[in-house]
Amino acid sequence: MPELPEMETYRTMLNERIAGRVVRDVEVTREKTVNVPVDEFRRRVEGRAIERVDRAGKMLLFRLDDRWGATRGGGGAAAGAPAGRGGVATLERPEASVGADADAGAATADTLALHLMLGGSMFYGSPDEAPDRTAQVVFTFDAGKKLYFHGLRLGYLHIYGPEELETKLSKLGPNPLDPALDAEAFAARLRRARGAIKFALTDQAVFAGIGNCYADEMLFAAGILPLRKTADVDDAELRRLFAAMRSTFAEAIRYGGYMEDPLYAGDERTGGYNDRCKVYDRGGEPCDRCGGPITKTESNGRKVFYCERCQR
Ligand SMILES: [Zn+2]
Repeated sequence: MPELPEMETYRTMLNERIAGRVVRDVEVTREKTVNVPVDEFRRRVEGRAIERVDRAGKMLLFRLDDRWGATRGGGGAAAGAPAGRGGVATLERPEASVGADADAGAATADTLALHLMLGGSMFYGSPDEAPDRTAQVVFTFDAGKKLYFHGLRLGYLHIYGPEELETKLSKLGPNPLDPALDAEAFAARLRRARGAIKFALTDQAVFAGIGNCYADEMLFAAGILPLRKTADVDDAELRRLFAAMRSTFAEAIRYGGYMEDPLYAGDERTGGYNDRCKVYDRGGEPCDRCGGPITKTESNGRKVFYCERCQR
């Protein structure tokens, strides 16, 4: 499943390609992938520009431009309304913004939240470049370029107004790469979690974006066994884990994460970290550091990889 580095790679590459561009057409072939009726989903996305792509944990947030922006802020602003949005006039203004004070700049813009979960991926390009996979959602931009969302069986592409988005994001813990997060705050948050250190790291309410692969990688880098109780991990070890978390993510982002589906034709960046994983998915292979075999086990229904000699 894609984690922080994979989504960060997608975020950067998507912003280079689609930021500021208008979604001309939306196709949804699997209704369950979206959270509103397909007609409504299309109406809220078609004709909107994707202002930018942000990331929250393992989710990508496609920020749509403000449908009502042209009519907010009073005098003459409407004159600046882009042409070609005829259909918009027939829509009702969202309830939340009725009577809102213009000064408050009540945000009415929608955001698309994408979670790829297991098996999801994206492709950006023309139809002849796209992989032969069933897409659950396809966005068409100008010049025939399309953004395909593949493998969204468990994953989803939901549309949220500002308040719904706020509610959704409030369940996530902080970004582990937030520059304001230091080793002490990192340790304090982990200490509040119960159970094994690996599962504290992958709890999205503790930190958002760490999953199965990178938890194992950062625990290997820090020399800590993944199934040790968090309560038994001492301060010095948690400081090492903080440094390992930062360096593991920095390297994984630099090499485009470990998932190998390219985002576009000629994409050389995506998946470059796969060969650099030290323990994840390497059960039985020799450890890079000591030559001993990597142990693969399972706990809470999840795979766990580590080196018995290098981690304690
Ligand atoms: Zn080892």
